[in-house]
Amino acid sequence: TPAEVEGTAAKQLSTPLAAVDSCVTGTRAAFATGRTRSMQWRRDQLRGILRLLQERAPEIHAAMAADLGKNDVDSHLTEVLSVKSEVKTTLKNLTSWTRDRSTSVPFIVGSARAHVQRQPLGTVLIIGPWNYPFHLLLMPLIGALAAGNSVVLKPSELAPTVSATVAKLIPEYLDTEAVQVIEGGVEETTRLLEHRFDHIFYTGNGTVASIVMTAAAKHLTPVTLELGGKSPVWIDASADLTATAEALVWGKFSNCGQTCVAPDYLLTTPELAEPLAREIARITRRAFGSDPSRAENYGRVINERHAERLAGLLDSGRAVIGGETDTAARYIAPTVLLEVDPDSAIMQDEIFGPILPILTVADHQAAIDFINARPKPLALYAFTEHPEVREDFLRQTSSGGITFNTVMTQLAVSTLPFGGVGASGMGRYHGEYSVETFSHERGVLRKLPGFDPTRLAKAPISWGMRKIL
Ligand code: NAD
Repeated sequence: TPAEVEGTAAKQLSTPLAAVDSCVTGTRAAFATGRTRSMQWRRDQLRGILRLLQERAPEIHAAMAADLGKNDVDSHLTEVLSVKSEVKTTLKNLTSWTRDRSTSVPFIVGSARAHVQRQPLGTVLIIGPWNYPFHLLLMPLIGALAAGNSVVLKPSELAPTVSATVAKLIPEYLDTEAVQVIEGGVEETTRLLEHRFDHIFYTGNGTVASIVMTAAAKHLTPVTLELGGKSPVWIDASADLTATAEALVWGKFSNCGQTCVAPDYLLTTPELAEPLAREIARITRRAFGSDPSRAENYGRVINERHAERLAGLLDSGRAVIGGETDTAARYIAPTVLLEVDPDSAIMQDEIFGPILPILTVADHQAAIDFINARPKPLALYAFTEHPEVREDFLRQTSSGGITFNTVMTQLAVSTLPFGGVGASGMGRYHGEYSVETFSHERGVLRKLPGFDPTRLAKAPISWGMRKIL
């Protein structure tokens, strides 16, 4: 069966359990040498990633095509260029992001100097998912190395070709002791999690996140959890319908909808639902032709199990476009559903596939209430030209991030923190936020000769002093 084939692929790729232990010990030993703290080492590693991206992009594209049916343009944009831009920005700002920050000292402390020191945490574990299997492993790696840590990387076994490619390429470009890759699934990850790490950075679903956090708790290891959930979209009549449809088609159907910040479902008014659905259908046809199964720019669902899960959600509404499936070929057509009940199957969990349900509510306030009645989203989107509507979303909702009049491009803004809140995760990264995540900010205080308030404490309390106190 395909499940057995998948299992075999994962099995062949996995690192033997004893090697898991020696890999952790080796990575720790590399940190203990002190070399990862030097700015030169950090720069060399970051430049190593840059060279890897420059020289080996074709291998990354081939792996992406094998695991996710991604075309080269898509892979290059989302897996290679995005990571390259993060390395370049990090290299450019490395000195300022890692330097000591002096801070003021209150009068009561007397003469003294204070500063905040950003220190590496030690050895960190990064566990990646299958949906952007290269990007989501390398982006946190950049921050971890920039902060001076040694790293164990665990790619997802569900993208086996990418996992094997990462395991092959990383040792060719980076410090082979300080950065090591463990391949495998549940068994290997469980073994890894028995070890003490100084930080665990996990991207994936909430159920496994709680397993990771439980294991981390045993060692009091801090965690960053980059999770998902249903990311809603509000659209009102003031939005440009074509531009909105174009953004949604791109956001929902690239990578076959398997994107953590993909628009999950739409909320709009009853009058707008039908014209919006028709416009999305028109743009979808323009993007993928009348038979998307033959379109070069349309991907596949990761495996048959997920394809079957998605096929089972199609009767949650009336398909305006799409609805065709070939689960053996992992194909689900780009689909837009109208007349979707809030209690239907498709509204229970994150869809994580190319099906876009449209629900209707009276107005933007009803949309806000609908969103607030559910777990906090990773991304929240609103297409509107009304400043007061924007203001209401900003004041009344909570989400990992909020984006107006476009989708997903917030990820490219490295000056914005990226992460969830509540059920969509904890912690954040990208740009300087990554360096913060993988550093300990140590408070450093140095007393200088001169005024010393502790002397006052030792002195007998005078009448004047009593009055002040
Ligand atoms: P996945 O199945 O690849 O799992 C992620 C990782 O967890 C893998 O490395 C896997 O080996 C490991 N794992 C699985 N079971 C485990 C267990 N029992 N113990 C220890 N480790 C285990 O990926 P997934 O979870 O299906 O990823 C999809 C989810 O991730 C979606 O919910 C999506 O929204 C979310 N996601 C979030 C982000 C983000 O940046 N916030 C990005 C991508 C995906």
